[in-house]
Amino acid sequence: MIAELRELQRARARLGASAGELRAFQAERLAAVVGAAHRRVPFWRARLDAAGIAPATVRSIADLEAMPPVTKAELVAAGQTSVMASGVDPASCLSFHTSGTTGEPFSLYATMDEIRVHRIIQFRALLAGGYRMRDHLLVLGPGRGLPSGLHQRLGIYRRTHVWPTAPVEEQIEALRRASPDALWIYPSCLHAILERTGFRLGSVCRPRIAFSSAEIFGAEQKERLREDCGAEHFDLYGCVEFGRIAWECSAHQGMHVNADHVVVEVIGDHGTCPRTGARLGEAVVTSLTNTTVPLLRYRLGDVVGLLDGPCPCGSAFPRMSYPLGRTRDLLRRPSGLGVTAGPMTHVLRRRPWVARFQIVQESLDRLRLRVVAHRAPEPDEIAAVEHDALAYMREPMTITVELVERIDGGPGKFRDVIGLPARAATENRG
Ligand SMILES: [Zn+2]
Repeated sequence: MIAELRELQRARARLGASAGELRAFQAERLAAVVGAAHRRVPFWRARLDAAGIAPATVRSIADLEAMPPVTKAELVAAGQTSVMASGVDPASCLSFHTSGTTGEPFSLYATMDEIRVHRIIQFRALLAGGYRMRDHLLVLGPGRGLPSGLHQRLGIYRRTHVWPTAPVEEQIEALRRASPDALWIYPSCLHAILERTGFRLGSVCRPRIAFSSAEIFGAEQKERLREDCGAEHFDLYGCVEFGRIAWECSAHQGMHVNADHVVVEVIGDHGTCPRTGARLGEAVVTSLTNTTVPLLRYRLGDVVGLLDGPCPCGSAFPRMSYPLGRTRDLLRRPSGLGVTAGPMTHVLRRRPWVARFQIVQESLDRLRLRVVAHRAPEPDEIAAVEHDALAYMREPMTITVELVERIDGGPGKFRDVIGLPARAATENRG
């Protein structure tokens, strides 16, 4: 445990690094993981060799440019023994399975040391958001990957876990009973609770801080939460493959990439982020810590942008925009052209009367915007949404707002956008 605490201390100290110190640290880590991948992992040896990259020359992510980004499907096709470091016994590792709903299921293996690093990086994000050792944290979200080992062994950082699949009345009762100082909550769970409490979480509990991950929490929702119960909300961004990729600081201007843990690149062109003005593309991520199953230039499928300029908080850690959905959540214009759904979600997010929404593409020329409203909107408010949505799609199509009582979706699996299945999109294209 002492070693773990030291590691946490070092990880926290790195948050104060200058841009130059961070670059040097990244260079050292990158050289180490690329070297290990080449020595011990057949898949990566072949790929680096094919790209003509000598591991000893790699000092920055630009040195890997000749090696094309890898997809999950390629790793699955290569097979477990090919993508795993030689000499590691899978039985000594923890295995993780990335969600099958995103396409190919993929099993990852990580040693306990690697898991510990993921937890420390995650715990650091909670501490950066103001989580304190005497706080009671109520988790209504992921049961795995939280800094449980660390804080339970410390005997501090009390934690209560409530299953996100429990009935919403039970969740509300658990919140009332625990009266937590901090919440870790799936936005879809929070939305369901807000719907049930008449959008007054403050009548149930008054947490000081709230963290969420897995789904996007909009700026307007953050503001509403602050007004309702005074809670400051922080987004965390991550995935099974890499653990925490980015965290939100108190400046709330995008998220800081955990640049001592991963390198994030953005490829392709998915337009401009309406909130931050960043150029959007697909996130391609390289792990600086995984050596059992190394992930170099891995296509994550999320649409993100990198932000320029220093953060008001003073951190030299690079910033990225809030993820704007996944590339698979493309909307299609009648001509068949795919467009990123992120800006479309923004059309709805910024309306104060919209509590929750879901965009459903029914066919190439029909979009249904399902909305749970705080109050009955005026006809011209609905018309304004339809107008802006149509302006974004840029081609004649039918877009209708449908007011609904609630939107169901499994916790952690809730989707803002339901696009056409890939095949239907092609068949429909005509
Ligand atoms: Zn910052």
